[in-house]
Amino acid sequence: MPSTLRSRRSLRRPPRRGGPSAIHIIILLLKINIAVLTLVLISQLVLSFFAEPEATADHDPSTHTPSPTVTATPAPTPDVIGPPATPEWVQENLLDINEYSRPGIALEQVNGVVVHYTGNPGTTAEQNRSYFNNLAQTHETYASSNFVIGMDGTIILCVPMDEVAYCTGERNYDTLSIEVCHPDDTGEFTQEAYDALVRLVQFLIDHYQLQREDILRHYDVMGKECPRWFVEHPEDWQAFLDEFTYAPDPEDAA
Ligand SMILES: [Zn+2]
Repeated sequence: MPSTLRSRRSLRRPPRRGGPSAIHIIILLLKINIAVLTLVLISQLVLSFFAEPEATADHDPSTHTPSPTVTATPAPTPDVIGPPATPEWVQENLLDINEYSRPGIALEQVNGVVVHYTGNPGTTAEQNRSYFNNLAQTHETYASSNFVIGMDGTIILCVPMDEVAYCTGERNYDTLSIEVCHPDDTGEFTQEAYDALVRLVQFLIDHYQLQREDILRHYDVMGKECPRWFVEHPEDWQAFLDEFTYAPDPEDAA
């Protein structure tokens, strides 16, 4: 029996002496390795987490590009006033972009406002807006206006305030146009339409810093009998112009 025990021991001992310690070392090394790897991973995660805002900020044009653009933009265009936000009392119902009524040409500067009458008695603002929009299909003529005012005082924005509308010939390129609906051939506006027109024109005067001479009839620009009532009743046109508070004259300030 002892011989068998010895032989068993002699068989078992060598692996027990070298084996467990070697395995322990390997396990220990593996543990250290895993610990080091986890530490490296955690530190990389932590670093990337803290570095992220800075990294995106480097690519964010809003934080880094302004300094060059801010110094560059004011010089070439010092006097241009961009379009205002559409007020809540104006319905924005833009025409589709098309060459007949909304060419999509940028209106770079607004130097005035031109008042028109639709010349289409009894029609609504929406009908006139649809007429302009349908020109894309009918190709009947080139016509539109930035705004249409209905007999009930509805104001529709058809062409954005920074785009050209086809209403006032060459002044299409530096004015905003307003078409006003009217009940009959005299071209006289309803009280609702008149009040809405006054509200809108005052809003545009305030935003674009306009003067009395910047508020025009189509007639003043092209000699056309438009808006008819204000052409045939020039005293009423002057009374209309008296409704407004104008921007301070830049020459007085200088
Ligand atoms: Zn006109």
